[in-house]
Amino acid sequence: MVGAVQAVLFLWAKMAHKDWGPRDTESELTRLKSITDKALLQNVEKRYRAGNIYTRSGRIVLAVNPYKKLPLYTEETLQAYKASLAPQVELPPHVYAVASSAHSGMLRTSTSQSVIISGESGAGKTETAKILLEYLAEVSCSGSDLHTRVLKTNPIMESFGCAKTIWNNNSSRFGKFLTLQFSPTGRMQGAFMKTYLLEKSRITSQLANEQNYHVFYTVAKGLSPSQRAELQLPKGSDAVEAFKLLNLRKASDVDWSELPCDFAELSAAFAVIPSLAGCQLSVWKVIMAVLYLGNLDFAGKGAVGDSTVADAKIADPSTTAVIARLLSIQPTELENAICIQNINAGGEWIKSPNSIAYASDALYSKLFDWVVEMINSSLISGEGGRYFIGAVDIFGFECFPTNSLEQLCINFANERMQHMFTEAVFESVIAEYQKEGIDVADITFEDNTPLLELIDKPATGILSLLAEECFFPNGTDASFAQKIKLAHARHPCFAEVKLDRTAFTLSHFPGKVTYQSAGFLEKNKDPLPQDLVVLMRFSDDDFVKTLFEEKKGAGVIDSFRVSLNELVKTLSATKTHFIRCVKPNMDKKAMSWDEDVMQRQLRTSGVVQAVKAVQATRKGFPDILPFAELLSRFEQVVPKAAIGKAGAEGVRALLKGAEVPETDYRVGKTKVFLGVGVLDRLEQRRMEY
Ligand code: ATP
Ligand code: MG
Repeated sequence: MVGAVQAVLFLWAKMAHKDWGPRDTESELTRLKSITDKALLQNVEKRYRAGNIYTRSGRIVLAVNPYKKLPLYTEETLQAYKASLAPQVELPPHVYAVASSAHSGMLRTSTSQSVIISGESGAGKTETAKILLEYLAEVSCSGSDLHTRVLKTNPIMESFGCAKTIWNNNSSRFGKFLTLQFSPTGRMQGAFMKTYLLEKSRITSQLANEQNYHVFYTVAKGLSPSQRAELQLPKGSDAVEAFKLLNLRKASDVDWSELPCDFAELSAAFAVIPSLAGCQLSVWKVIMAVLYLGNLDFAGKGAVGDSTVADAKIADPSTTAVIARLLSIQPTELENAICIQNINAGGEWIKSPNSIAYASDALYSKLFDWVVEMINSSLISGEGGRYFIGAVDIFGFECFPTNSLEQLCINFANERMQHMFTEAVFESVIAEYQKEGIDVADITFEDNTPLLELIDKPATGILSLLAEECFFPNGTDASFAQKIKLAHARHPCFAEVKLDRTAFTLSHFPGKVTYQSAGFLEKNKDPLPQDLVVLMRFSDDDFVKTLFEEKKGAGVIDSFRVSLNELVKTLSATKTHFIRCVKPNMDKKAMSWDEDVMQRQLRTSGVVQAVKAVQATRKGFPDILPFAELLSRFEQVVPKAAIGKAGAEGVRALLKGAEVPETDYRVGKTKVFLGVGVLDRLEQRRMEY
């Protein structure tokens, strides 16, 4: 026993030493003497330069992306956090400290926990979520099958849901809420995840220097000759150059080392997830089918955009044949479904040239959903687990030159998370006052409720108006824009855009975002061409059939709202922890510190406000002293006779005797809260005596 304690102490001393870094920095921001933006930033920068990427501010851990491997995640460090019994606030800030506090807090208080990880694209959310998961798996199910399975979901989810973007070589293009289920003794029993809004448009269009989902490259390159033969793929199917979808933006420059895993690793990960293990070939088939769909071209009349559809034809029938083979459908039926779609327009069926993009997008997003479903079915605990620890890794705020429904959804989700964050952060400060019985009615903080209502209020909120407009046969993007203006023109968070009647601006927490309403209705309806669905349901391949099984569907926005409400409800019932990820520069570079970039993120992440909140609530009364301390320190300031009392009464007498106006202090139950300058004045008087 003594040996074990010594070992812990030894590790502890090492950890503490590690965190010491530059001696003149604070690992807890609220302890800084000066809480100006500059002082905060300098403190974080000094720590970062010394290899301490984590800093704490109350219940928030700030993580600066190092863009290089740091020796922060060793087995030794993990074990030290695991062994430590100290409360989180006394540990050097780290993702492990958050994980450890969530795990032990769950057991101690019998309450489920959640960790909300936020930040801009490339800030390090997904890496942080992985570090958190590694810790929890290690301490709660080490060596078990579950341990391996849970960790192997990472390469799969990253391959299917991440892509190279301008901001991040491994950018998650979906939101994720991972739930780890635990027994009453803290053993991990299972896991499941919920995903949000996969970016579908990426499959057929990307910005300059961006790429498609990693898995397309991995599979196109990685299938073995025998697998290619089995799939009857034409020659050249292993060349990235052979596929338009891989070359929308010069993908011939693909840096293979940037992909999260190669084909062998992806395959190995599939092999450990029981419900995926036997389906590999079926999955690769669908991936290849999407790639070949992307190679299709229309010939003659009926090309996309041509309204004369009667004789639309596929230019290269041999490609159609390959796709039909991969999906076990009839080539002629495929051609029919793809060339002409029957659209229900205002109750009337009309023929219109189909867009191949719909088919590719639909096929891939169905596959993505299926993969998630299979992972869940293999990982979820039958017993349900008594408690859980959830980890939220969602997309950060987005503001592009043109913003559409996707950005509105993403930014709305961020506003909801921000709301939880403010509540949680201020709650803890307010709790300190309430504990002392001090009135907190006059403490205010930035509250984004008005904006949330503007977006989400039943019946009149922007989202409700959108859903309603989609329902009207004659609804258009323009009529939608008109309606929200009529309803909200005077709302403080809403603004019209000069010279653009279809645009509107919302004042979000980090700044203003202008949305273009063009395309909102279509995106919300998310049309899945019926001809295509029918075709797939008649496939001879059970796997393809399964992908297109009927599921209850609502408009994009309605189902997103429902899932977001569920998420918020789930999180609200837990003890929340926050990790704010930030990146030190926009160039994905190690050791490069851009002050403006950091400043912006500290502000938009709410860290500055949170630190200031602590200060603000103490602004009127920055110095908080236990009664006994005040009395012993300043008893000579006032002649003894005037006091002679202990506790609150003594404190009041002392302050009265020292001529401190009553408005300059508040007396709590055990502590006294002194106004600005009061302590200095008392000190001065003491010197004079
Ligand atoms: P997105 O919103 O685009 O998904 P993200 O916040 O999830 O972005 P990550 O993918 O987690 O960002 O991080 C981007 C890259 O930064 C990683 O691929 C990795 O190279 C680097 N990185 C992030 N955190 C760390 C870390 N703790 N140690 C080393 N490298 C890191
Ligand atoms: Mg990510």
